[in-house]
Amino acid sequence: MTPRAPEAKTEHFDVLIVGAGISGVGGAYHLTQQCPGTSFVVLESQASFGGTWLTHRYPGIRSDSDLYTFGYRFKPWTGKPIAQAHEIRDYMAEVIAENDLARHIRYHHKITNAAWSSADNRWTIEATRGDTGETVRFSANFLWMCQGYYRHNEGYTPSWPGMADYKGRIVHPQTWPEDLDYTGKTMLVIGSGATAATLIPAVADKVAHVTMLQRSPTYFIPARNANDLADTLRQLQIDETWIHEIVRRKILHDQAVFTRRAFNEPETVKKELLAGVRAYIGPDYKLDPDFTPSYRPWRQRIAFVPDGDLFRGIRAGKASVVTDEIERFTETGILLKSGKTLEADIIVTATGFNMNALGDIAFSIDGKPLDFADTVTYRGMMFTGIPNMVWVFGYFRASWTLRADLVADFVCRLLNHMKTRQAKRVAVALRPQDNDMPILPWIDPENFNPGYLMRAMHLLPKRGDKPEWQHNQDYWNEKDQFPAIDLDDAAFVYGPSADRRDLSRAAAD
Ligand SMILES: Cc1cc2nc3c(=O)[nH]c(=O)nc-3n(C[C@H](O)[C@H](O)[C@H](O)COP(=O)(O)OP(=O)(O)OC[C@H]3O[C@@H](n4cnc5c(N)ncnc54)[C@H](O)[C@@H]3O)c2cc1C
Repeated sequence: MTPRAPEAKTEHFDVLIVGAGISGVGGAYHLTQQCPGTSFVVLESQASFGGTWLTHRYPGIRSDSDLYTFGYRFKPWTGKPIAQAHEIRDYMAEVIAENDLARHIRYHHKITNAAWSSADNRWTIEATRGDTGETVRFSANFLWMCQGYYRHNEGYTPSWPGMADYKGRIVHPQTWPEDLDYTGKTMLVIGSGATAATLIPAVADKVAHVTMLQRSPTYFIPARNANDLADTLRQLQIDETWIHEIVRRKILHDQAVFTRRAFNEPETVKKELLAGVRAYIGPDYKLDPDFTPSYRPWRQRIAFVPDGDLFRGIRAGKASVVTDEIERFTETGILLKSGKTLEADIIVTATGFNMNALGDIAFSIDGKPLDFADTVTYRGMMFTGIPNMVWVFGYFRASWTLRADLVADFVCRLLNHMKTRQAKRVAVALRPQDNDMPILPWIDPENFNPGYLMRAMHLLPKRGDKPEWQHNQDYWNEKDQFPAIDLDDAAFVYGPSADRRDLSRAAAD
């Protein structure tokens, strides 16, 4: 039985941050800078910080965003734009050390329950300690959800007929076995997203052969893993703080142009992307079907291929691509719908994540279990009827951390505003002018439609059709809109206060 002492002490903090990934560590930094004197704790289920960059240990694991924009606004990035997981963790370690954040972080704390009490205006949080098995309890005025968007302890593997017959080893990249020896083996990677594009060049030299099996192709941007502007500025001995800011602005400007063009002239952008692949893969490779997606560029994340390494592996004959569908697994590999078979000693299912809304934590509000899907989101960070809580959900088309920084500014401003108003709680509520607003799924599949999101749409909050009531995935708008959010707008319901609608009404609206 789990040791549990009901009389065990409850530790109280002003703010409790869930998760020590890039968002949670950033949140901790911003709290110390923008809300000095606020007591806070970061609870993390894993043994260390890093989140995504700790969980994923498959060969070659690296970012597919540039680190000038994936890095924090406040800490210059000085390495190559595309970084290995360990380099991102080293960078985070410096942020933790330079800002004395370690004393605020508790590892091995997996949060299982979070209960809001309107009588006390606080959350009670229970966590299970991974190292001792103990259940520990905290209370907090405010919950800052930095738990990411997918389950960390297991990836998503579809079930295909015949999997049990397969005599080789099936591996998901998210739980890559340390002892996996693939030297001289044949490997088959199912999937063609960023993970497959990273893994394949990393194993290509050691395996006998690696095949990427895809149902449908992905857009790739192969380019040199360098930033010319940053290199020039360094030659000129410009201060790194300046370089960070200038290079971020340049990258963000170029990305804005690219995104606009992807929507306005998709066929031209498609041609350019295919020409980029052609330049690395060589003149003889038939790009259709393997590298010619049917969808418009940017409907799914575009994978960056540093130095075109994926295509160099294909050109060298160490890696190949098959576009087909799986009929079933066999004892020795996979039978495809076309009737062809692929033999493999190891099959890697680079098939994505299991999305989990709110970190698999059982939430309740005044004793009533919370169904997140019953809520409507305020700008993809607050939710109707859930008081004193913000979730950091980053961008698909720009670096996640850009939004983590913006949301952090918002949270700190909100906390300071609550202090000024002497409010103990705040929740968002639809306003009278929102009464006729259509309530829609979290994201428009016409806009962005990766499998993990489509599978989880029924678990996620709803959105409206006004900018306030949706995560619009647009950094370039939000960077100006967020600092201008009027915290006294009727969408924010503070309490307890005589001149405001109270929370129970806000939740019922
Ligand atoms: C392989 C991979 C590559 C990616 N590359 C990029 C990229 O290049 N650029 C980009 O912008 N985005 C990328 N992403 C998206 C990526 O997840 C985010 O960019 C970012 O790292 C998320 O940071 P986070 O801190 O919000 O969440 P996470 O990194 O997911 O960290 C969340 C942390 O919360 C902890 N946690 C969760 N639930 C609980 C709980 N109940 N109790 C306690 N702790 C909990 C987890 O253990 C984890 O450490 C990538 C994702 C993956 C999987």
